[in-house]
Amino acid sequence: MVVLKSPSEIAVMRLAGRIVATVLAEMRERVKPGVTTLELDEAAEHIIRQHGATPSFKGKAHSDPGAPPFPAAICASVNEEIVHGIPSSRRLKEGDIISVDVGAYYKGYHGDSAVTLPVGKVSKEAADLMRVTEECLAAAIAVARNGNRTGDIGAAIQHTAESQGFSVVREYTSHGVGRELHEGFSLLNYGTAGHGMVLRPGLTIAVEPMINAGKYGTKVKKDKWTVVTIDGKLSAHFEHTIAITEGDAEILTKLDKQ
Ligand code: MG
Ligand code: MG
Repeated sequence: MVVLKSPSEIAVMRLAGRIVATVLAEMRERVKPGVTTLELDEAAEHIIRQHGATPSFKGKAHSDPGAPPFPAAICASVNEEIVHGIPSSRRLKEGDIISVDVGAYYKGYHGDSAVTLPVGKVSKEAADLMRVTEECLAAAIAVARNGNRTGDIGAAIQHTAESQGFSVVREYTSHGVGRELHEGFSLLNYGTAGHGMVLRPGLTIAVEPMINAGKYGTKVKKDKWTVVTIDGKLSAHFEHTIAITEGDAEILTKLDKQ
């Protein structure tokens, strides 16, 4: 079911979003060669709890009941890992890229946002992939407007990625977000403009293009969580939680001064 939020609910989601943005700002400072993804996770969880929130992802059940719940506050996905990477003792090294995805649950609402960051100096391909993926997110948010449709968002992402030689991950989607981390509907990151559900003010969406340097195919590793590219090439991921308004979409997962 699609849930439209009242202005007072969106005000709380703004606070949850700000906590997430605070975590990601700290991740930008901490990501460098030699750091482990577990150290990043510990710092993230500390910030979330310091703000009176809880990590949205920690303990989240797997769709496969035989798999363990997600064990951490962040998803840390390095290089060919697309999403849902589990923090570990792996040390980042110069030239890696790392996607950090964070969710915070605050006063009954979730904020959900992700960035992909360079570790030291990275290849031109890696830098281009990150830039294009961020452009995909911006293009998606630009068309996330009252009266437009979900297909407009998917088409904007697909055009931005494919016109620059990259591919859009198919098996994982953007989604409604609010009282639940995945609330009401999924939204494909590719598709046809003018198709799909109509966007209305009060709709809150986690828009999250996952873009691959090679082909779009994915597989899941033995840990049952970590999603990687089949061809072993790089992948990037950017995400914001947004609210549809009468005008421009509002980005909820941002710091005040951004
Ligand atoms: Mg996320
Ligand atoms: Mg999400």
